[in-house]
Amino acid sequence: MQRLTVRVLSTDGDDEYLVEFKRADDRLSVTCTCGSGKYGKLCKHKMGVVLADRSVELVDASADTIAEIAGWLGHTDYVQLLAEYSAAKSTLDSAKSEIEKVKYRLERAMRDDDQF
Ligand SMILES: [Zn+2]
Repeated sequence: MQRLTVRVLSTDGDDEYLVEFKRADDRLSVTCTCGSGKYGKLCKHKMGVVLADRSVELVDASADTIAEIAGWLGHTDYVQLLAEYSAAKSTLDSAKSEIEKVKYRLERAMRDDDQF
């Protein structure tokens, strides 16, 4: 079994968590020591490291480690699942935007502006 770990900062910067990747055969597990991650939830730390975006601040990850993790991910079904996640999130964001527009129109329609 191969193992890679990345230390990350909590959102408020007060805590550090360990995101760990374990690879054996065609299986890749990703765990995190944060409150959500401990229960197997998809926390922002796992997603931040997997997506290699800047949503999570890495404490001690080398470029080589990040590249190796990306290579491991390429051999899993994570790629397809991440694409589905991204598409669903995009749909949700569009729906949220539409709700805000309709709410605004409703607020305007319901406004009491003494024009009766
Ligand atoms: Zn976490």
